[in-house]
Parts: sequence; C-alpha cells; structure tokens
Amino acid sequence: MTRSALPLALVFMIPALLAALAQEREELPPPEETEVWEPEPAVVHPGGHGKAPSDAIVLFDGTDLSKWTGRNGAAEWTVAHGAMTVKPGTGSISTVDGFGDVQLHVEWRTPTEIVGESQGRGNSGIFLMERYEVQVLDSYDNRSYSNGQAASIYKQHIPLVNASRAPGEWQTYDIVFMAPRFANDGSLKRPATMTVLHNGVLVQNHVEIEGPTVFRGKPRYEAHAPKAPLQLQDHRNYVSYRNIWVREL
Ligand code: MG
Repeated sequence: MTRSALPLALVFMIPALLAALAQEREELPPPEETEVWEPEPAVVHPGGHGKAPSDAIVLFDGTDLSKWTGRNGAAEWTVAHGAMTVKPGTGSISTVDGFGDVQLHVEWRTPTEIVGESQGRGNSGIFLMERYEVQVLDSYDNRSYSNGQAASIYKQHIPLVNASRAPGEWQTYDIVFMAPRFANDGSLKRPATMTVLHNGVLVQNHVEIEGPTVFRGKPRYEAHAPKAPLQLQDHRNYVSYRNIWVREL
C-alpha cells in the first residue's frame, strides 16, 4: 500500500459506517416510549431565604409558641426578635401535632458568648418522634466525642464533616427522616433512616437509626405510634431556634 492509499481507503469506509449507525438507531424503540408523564408532581413554590415552601407546615414563624407544648402545658421558652430561646430548667418542648416521615428544616444558634466546653457548650437537640436525636451543639473549635458533636445522630452516627458556623451565627439543618416501621407483634420491620444537611453540607447520608437515643448503653427499638411530636431539648444552655417547618412525606 502506498502512503496515499491508506487515507483513501478510510474515506470509502465512511458511508458503510454511517449506514450501520443509522440501522442501529432505527432498531431502538422511539424515545417517547420511555417518557413518563403521570403523575405530574404538584407545583410547590420554594421558600428561599428564611421562608417555608408553599406546602410546608410552619411550626415556628418567629412570633409565638402556639404549636408547642411544655411539660406543664404551654411551652415556656422565651420568644423575642423572631426567635425562641431555651429557658433553662423549664424543660424540653414538643409540637402539639405528631409527625412520621418528614422533611424538616430548622435554624438554630448557640450563644455568642462562649460558656462551658465539650457537651456543655451550646447543647440542645432535635428529637424526631421525641426519640431520635440530631445533636445541636457549638462544635466550632470545641472538641467533644465525635458521635456527640453537632449534626451527629447522638451516640449513633458521626457526621461526615464538621460544617459548623461560629457561635452566635445562625445555622441550618435540613433533615429527611423516615420513621421506623413495626409489625403487628411489635417487632421491627424497618429501622428509621435519616439524611442531614448542616448549613447545606451533607453530613448524614441516609443512615440507619439503631433505636431511640440513649445517654448510656445501647439503643433498642420499642414499637410506637406511626406519628409522634417533634421535640427540642432543654439542655440548660441558651440555644435559639427560628424558621422551623416540616413537609410530611
Ligand atoms: Mg443534645
């Protein structure tokens, strides 16, 4: 073969290659066959910047605690400047309504003035179904045990990274929680799962919850109702919350 004959041979092969490709394309089903049009997802207006999406249940909009209860009836935490703040010693507060599978948005802030260390600094917590805690803690330059720092599933799952902002700054949690499922005899059919974004950063990626949060020993599931209140913890630190909403899934 001469030097010029090789490219010339390739040029003659091109029509054959194109014909083969065209034939293959014709053999595939039409693209419309794999288009799914129903159901059409409902239109939801995203909230953005401190506002809940249009289909969310707002649990705290900065004005009052009417959707919450305390151990003596009404929730006794302080409401001021669009936020609620733990009133140490008055106890944890729970929503009046119960929830199961939810998308939950919570904003929280630990005190600007640093008091205490490790678990004693800006400690609170968000308990899904009054049982499964996502830890709230000032973990900005404040070492504590890893499975007890901010955004941990307390004593169960260490966050993937520490995305904490400085004390005094507002922080966000966006949580997808799937409630556990129990059989009629009370045995566990499916554990709860949780996905958490801390300040927009993925920190818990669909982790399996081992059971209700416990301070000592190992967690153990006990059958409970399919819906239960959301609870915010009084850990005797002045932690504040605002803009809390859920979307039931
Ligand atoms: Mg806590």
